[in-house]
Amino acid sequence: MLQLASGMSRLGTESAFEVLARANALAAAGKSIINLGIGQPDFKTPAHIVDAAIKALKDGHHGYTPANGIPQLREAVSADLHRRHGVTIDPAQVVVVPGGKVTMFFAILMFGEPGAEIIYPNPGFPIYESAINFTGAKAVPLPLLEKNGFGFSADDLLSRITDKTRLIIINSPANPTGGVTADAEVEKLVKGLEKFPNVAIMSDEIYSEILYEGRKHLSLLRFEQLRDRLIMLDGWSKTYAMTGWRMGYAVWPGKLAELATRLAINCHSCVNASAQYAGLAALTGPKDDVAKMCKAFDERRRFVVGALNKLPGVSCVDALGAFYVFPNISKIGLTAKQVEGGLLNDAGVATIAGTSFGSYGEGYLRVSYANSLENIAEAMRRFGDWLAQRK
Ligand code: PLP
Repeated sequence: MLQLASGMSRLGTESAFEVLARANALAAAGKSIINLGIGQPDFKTPAHIVDAAIKALKDGHHGYTPANGIPQLREAVSADLHRRHGVTIDPAQVVVVPGGKVTMFFAILMFGEPGAEIIYPNPGFPIYESAINFTGAKAVPLPLLEKNGFGFSADDLLSRITDKTRLIIINSPANPTGGVTADAEVEKLVKGLEKFPNVAIMSDEIYSEILYEGRKHLSLLRFEQLRDRLIMLDGWSKTYAMTGWRMGYAVWPGKLAELATRLAINCHSCVNASAQYAGLAALTGPKDDVAKMCKAFDERRRFVVGALNKLPGVSCVDALGAFYVFPNISKIGLTAKQVEGGLLNDAGVATIAGTSFGSYGEGYLRVSYANSLENIAEAMRRFGDWLAQRK
């Protein structure tokens, strides 16, 4: 019998990929499927970004790059952070990785081990809990509640810190809920953390450019007093419709940038060179495609929230960021997983059970509106018919 490391039995997964595989299999068998499951923009990467990658390949950028990313890309990240958040970041603190997920895993590997505690959002991106469990650290959930618009409460978070807490993870705008934490709660958290100088914080800001109703993103980078312990995760996947390019980065504090680079050298050497040139073009080129995508998302968001609230037994709070809504389906009388399965198999609509994002997701469904308005409208019609047939 093979003797696998114990962490392997604790490693979770991201259900979105499983639902995608099931939805694709049903579609391949001839069933009409509308995918509101996967968390990726339905737009193509803007043409000037694709062209930059082709040019890089033609120009002969075929070899390894520095493990933390080509210098001009790290400089462009620093300039972009200045443009967006008004902060001055040394490019030496930036480490480019193959997707935001890699930053997440590296940060959790750096702090997690048996005996340590890591606080993470629940419902939240499933890889947080999975990676924490993998390291043997205790995963301490921070419940994100509908009554708070699925933002976190600083008091709730601070009350979970113990002398074993090494890292706290926050994410706003949030997956799976689209929730955006109020600025006042972020400021309260920063103040409260003064009492816990040995606790690091990873702020997952991957959806920071996808915000609605005039909301402006408050990056944790703006708080100078956190700089020596803040890992700020961001990337290209969502903002520039580049999920398949595998491009992410983080700003790491002090020596942690070197450690993250060392992990990169151990793990993947560097990110695909042509993708880095594409990422450079994204940051330095025109931004009108980003604005267009956000406008389209906003239109769909308004539509889907309205449509969900018209369905019997379903209610949905407004979401102010990302491209997800998290309707409450507890009155339907089925578990979230049963609703997910019924909608996919009977109605041909892929969504994801809230429980795939943690125990506090029971009674909810993640609906991604990264799909055309026509498809979303048809999916809502099918959802309504499915509910009516169950009666
Ligand atoms: N963080 C959150 C909250 C996400 O939802 C995702 C992707 O779905 C990521 C990070 C990672 O994105 P990527 O690895 O594509 O950069």
